[in-house]
Amino acid sequence: MLKRLHYIYVFGLIGVLSDCSLVRTSTSGNVSGVSVVYPASDIDLPSAHFAFYLPRIALAELEAPASPLFDITEDFCAFDMNHISVSDPKLFKNDEKMSIDLTRIRKGEYSFPLPGAKVISSYAGRRKNHSGTDLKTFANDTIRAAFDGIVRMAKPYYAYGNVIVLRHFNGLETVYSHNSKHLIKQGEYVKAGEPVALVGRTGRATTEHLHFEVRVNGQHFNPEFLFDMNAQELQSKRLVCTQGKNRIIISSMDTFSNLPFMLNASN
Ligand SMILES: [Zn+2]
Repeated sequence: MLKRLHYIYVFGLIGVLSDCSLVRTSTSGNVSGVSVVYPASDIDLPSAHFAFYLPRIALAELEAPASPLFDITEDFCAFDMNHISVSDPKLFKNDEKMSIDLTRIRKGEYSFPLPGAKVISSYAGRRKNHSGTDLKTFANDTIRAAFDGIVRMAKPYYAYGNVIVLRHFNGLETVYSHNSKHLIKQGEYVKAGEPVALVGRTGRATTEHLHFEVRVNGQHFNPEFLFDMNAQELQSKRLVCTQGKNRIIISSMDTFSNLPFMLNASN
């Protein structure tokens, strides 16, 4: 393993700043005279992270082989174990692009994080600042690892409550928040579909549910880029991540077409 000497990258710093913003604002509102109680997990986002747009990718890029597996960093430091938003220094180091062809990930190599769940709050959401997708079944239902990986963080963390962050070999990270109980510990390896936690309402939550996030290099993006929330299967798309000036630009592209495809142009 490479020793990490410079783990506080730009995104790490942004992460620290954004983490501080978690402890503000309430989660209820009034829309058109109708009182609305938002699901508890409308966790505030830094505006700098909240922009997806079509990258300027050469057509040649679409012909390039996908990179389904990355050699992720596993020698986590104290900073990694204590913060949600952490970059992986190996990602985007030599190449400014990263491509994950979801069609190459087979059944058994992934799991919907909360099978049978209904979406009760989408990414971005009504207030445009929801950092994940809220999934609900019932209290203490089993939460499952989305892919094979290693537990980077498993602890209580501000509004997230009990939260688990998994770093996966495909370059992504997934986040599972508000858990009532953790079934795995920091540093452990997990397999896709393995139980990692039970559904709870710890942290800022008004109902038992799973707040599920997907991140690349510390930056969250719409989990619907990854999962079809109705079918509860991976999208038949390719994720393309490029290094923008201040953030990673994530696009969901049709594997069988040269036309860039945006699943959900989030504002
Ligand atoms: Zn949420």
